Amino acid sequence: MIMNILVFLLAAATILIGQYALSLRSYLKELGRAYDKVAKGDYTVKVKESFSGDLGKAGKNFNLMTKDIYRNVETLKDRNSELRAILKSISNAIIAIDKDQNVLLMNKTAKNIFNYHEPDYEGKPFEMIAKDRKSLLLCILDLFHKRERAKTQLHLGNIAYKINVDPIRLNDNDKIVIGAIVNIEDITEKIKLETIRSDFVANVTHELKTPLTSINGFVETLKSNDEIDNETRIKFLDIIEAESNRLKTLIDDILILSFIEGNKNHYPNEKVNLSETIKECLNLVSESVKDKNISLDFNFVKDDIYLRANPELMKQLILNLVDNAIKYSKEEGFVKLNLEEDEKNVTFSVEDDGIGIPSGDVDRIFERFYRVDKARSKKVGGTGLGLAIVKHIVLNLNGNIKVQSEIDKGSKFIIEFPK
Ligand code: ADP
Repeated sequence: MIMNILVFLLAAATILIGQYALSLRSYLKELGRAYDKVAKGDYTVKVKESFSGDLGKAGKNFNLMTKDIYRNVETLKDRNSELRAILKSISNAIIAIDKDQNVLLMNKTAKNIFNYHEPDYEGKPFEMIAKDRKSLLLCILDLFHKRERAKTQLHLGNIAYKINVDPIRLNDNDKIVIGAIVNIEDITEKIKLETIRSDFVANVTHELKTPLTSINGFVETLKSNDEIDNETRIKFLDIIEAESNRLKTLIDDILILSFIEGNKNHYPNEKVNLSETIKECLNLVSESVKDKNISLDFNFVKDDIYLRANPELMKQLILNLVDNAIKYSKEEGFVKLNLEEDEKNVTFSVEDDGIGIPSGDVDRIFERFYRVDKARSKKVGGTGLGLAIVKHIVLNLNGNIKVQSEIDKGSKFIIEFPK
């Protein structure tokens, strides 16, 4: 009897052990398959946690590990796309290269500069990627070999670049450089603006100094000389008055120009009745029209032609053009103004039969202080800023100016404003 029980127990134990061995084998197989998947980058895989003891713990730990890896990989992916988005939105060209000068990453601006548009740039030699821009490449490599933060400016034809190369080190104090970040900024426009600004400052200083020197000279002469006769004294005082007026006009023009530039489109605009504004301006110039015996003609299709603009600046624009037409027209000449509109545009033109503008100067007359004949402009009270002011006002209203001119025949300034 006991023998039978023992045999039964042994048989049962064998079956149980066999079953356990079978399920252990299939569990280990499952674990093996799961590891394979992880190795291939699938971190979503899970294994059963049903075993008790160490094996169950191993299953649990495996699942915890894959969950952790999955979370970290997703965070890294998010960071990577953030970094790519940031790089893409940077207007400068950014290139990261490793110590062997292979490209690690580059943004769109860099691809454009180097004219390299293949998607697989990673790991390629920088020299190969930048082969179309030899001088830029040589300049960057020169900075790269310094192995410390370095910068320079490079002028290539009409384009100017500012180049910064920053070495990459794993730790701040490391001597070993593992690569570099190259940052290329197109500073062409910046340099142009800086040149315009410094030219403007030099011109303003000169223009202010000339009348001041003259005023100073005449005041000194009047003060130090008691014997000046009354007629000469009055002549000197007239010059001082004229020079002071010139200074005031110049300062007013500088202020208007800096107001327009400083405020761009931010000054208040309102509905301006253009024909009324033109009539107002014509009243203001009636004296000089009479003085030169000019025949003035204002032609407008209807009374109510409106434009959204700044009324003061619109007045300034009309006055500057009409004033020029009178200043540069002949005695007994004519000045014709025309105002019309269609569905899209309002067109305003000022025409004279004056001295005209040489074709080589037409493109430059809108520059600050540019005058075809400086002496003549000064004689007729010009500041050289009138057309620069006109141009800025027109551009701020998204309009355009055309000039038609012929020497000794006259000039026509045509301005088109979109409605
Ligand atoms: P200015 O104060 O000298 O008149 P502007 O900026 O108004 O300065 O004009 C620039 C230059 O353009 C003038 O000096 C002049 O040489 C030329 N100019 C402008 N308008 C006319 C015109 N209607 N006829 C001939 N030349 C003109």
